[in-house]
Amino acid sequence: MSANETHYCSCLTFEDLDPAVQKVLNSQVRGVLLKSAKWPDRSVIRIRFLDGDPALQQRVRKAANEWDKLVNLTFSFDQRRPSDARIAFQQGKGSWSYLGTMCKSIPEPQPTMNFGWLTNESSDEEVRSVVLHEFGHLLGLTHEHFNVKGGGIEWNRDAVIRDLSGPPNNWDADTIEHNMFQKFRDAEIYNTVMDRESIMMYPIPAAWTLNGMSIGFNSVLSEQDKKFVQTMYHN
Ligand SMILES: [Zn+2]
Repeated sequence: MSANETHYCSCLTFEDLDPAVQKVLNSQVRGVLLKSAKWPDRSVIRIRFLDGDPALQQRVRKAANEWDKLVNLTFSFDQRRPSDARIAFQQGKGSWSYLGTMCKSIPEPQPTMNFGWLTNESSDEEVRSVVLHEFGHLLGLTHEHFNVKGGGIEWNRDAVIRDLSGPPNNWDADTIEHNMFQKFRDAEIYNTVMDRESIMMYPIPAAWTLNGMSIGFNSVLSEQDKKFVQTMYHN
């Protein structure tokens, strides 16, 4: 698989919020990222589907349950309002999610998570992979390639920018900067040593790094993913 065939999830963070919502949050917290996106213990997260075929919705619920089993939170799929998180299947709009409790700042009926390339024809591996990844964002996890503990990734910036500006992602310069190269302060995040096997890691072709390092397509939760969320949401 090359970068040119791979869809990348875009995880939405503070900067993506409506300026009015940012203002409210700014008065409460600084550097709204992982720590501030963490759900209180034993939260029941009410999740509503905005569209999508019932069979596909069921496949999403089944995959999401892998996370739910590990944490002291409850994913409550419920079509009633109000909801905390809302899932759409808008084709061609990419796959993305807001992080953690940030979803609560998004007004009904806007989606907080989108599956832009899942259909009834998608393979089980594809559904599982993208659902576990986006629900990782719902738990407040950010992309593992932002993790610099253990050295991080030596990016070949020009190659990353060139590939992601083209199809199928077609990201503009700001989006690439935001999704690939943003840096968090230690105080803003909980992290472990970078985990190449994490479901929150992008596939990274060797051409994107300066030292030939590459990362394959991860479609299951890694042991460290499981341990990490169990620590964060001690079950
Ligand atoms: Zn993502």
